[in-house]
Amino acid sequence: MAIVKQCSKCRKQLPLEMFCKSSCTKSGLACACKVCHRKRGEIYRANNLEKCRASSRRYAHANKEKVREVWRNWIAKPENKEKTRLKNKRLHAADPVKRLENNRKWRALNPEKISEYCRKWRSANPEKVKQRCQKRRAIKKGAQHTPYTKAQVLALRGQWCGICGLEIDLSVKYPHPMSFSFDHIQPLTKGGIDAIENIQPAHYSCNCKKLDRTFGLSLVANGGVLSVP
Ligand SMILES: [Zn+2]
Ligand SMILES: [Zn+2]
Repeated sequence: MAIVKQCSKCRKQLPLEMFCKSSCTKSGLACACKVCHRKRGEIYRANNLEKCRASSRRYAHANKEKVREVWRNWIAKPENKEKTRLKNKRLHAADPVKRLENNRKWRALNPEKISEYCRKWRSANPEKVKQRCQKRRAIKKGAQHTPYTKAQVLALRGQWCGICGLEIDLSVKYPHPMSFSFDHIQPLTKGGIDAIENIQPAHYSCNCKKLDRTFGLSLVANGGVLSVP
């Protein structure tokens, strides 16, 4: 039996493992080599994008478990870790609100995984844990704190997100990304105080994305004068 075969497309003499199996040919192998086969597939896909997408969707819908299994195996491979990370980053940038919501759902369904992950992270990063504790303690000690309520903040600032400027639907409950949250206009980490003068309403997701930056007008920075649109 021959150990090489000629590809009908690129005409190269190639080892048999370079050909896909086929039930349509006498030899049991496809006429074109894997490289040519793949190239043809790519060209077809580029010319029939919508059709291919619809067919992929149909297949995925009909074979949910199979697709999930393939996906799980692919993610588990170390060479695909970086690819997965980059893809997640791209998806997050494309629709942050949806990604936050998906994350929240996943967290709610996998509390053991989260605590296991946190436990591992803490034991692998003892220095960082120490630094975080110190920072939290310093903030608590250093920040001036005057109690305030949600009703007081809404009465003072209105029902608007101080970060994106859109209205906040108060019927939406935490931890929904569009739910109400208290936002420190001047972050505590930047010397802001924990009192109503430095608090504005914000969507939970806007607040999460803001991190340590300053948005909105602190009454302290404005000499105690409130100027809200
Ligand atoms: Zn070929
Ligand atoms: Zn917002």
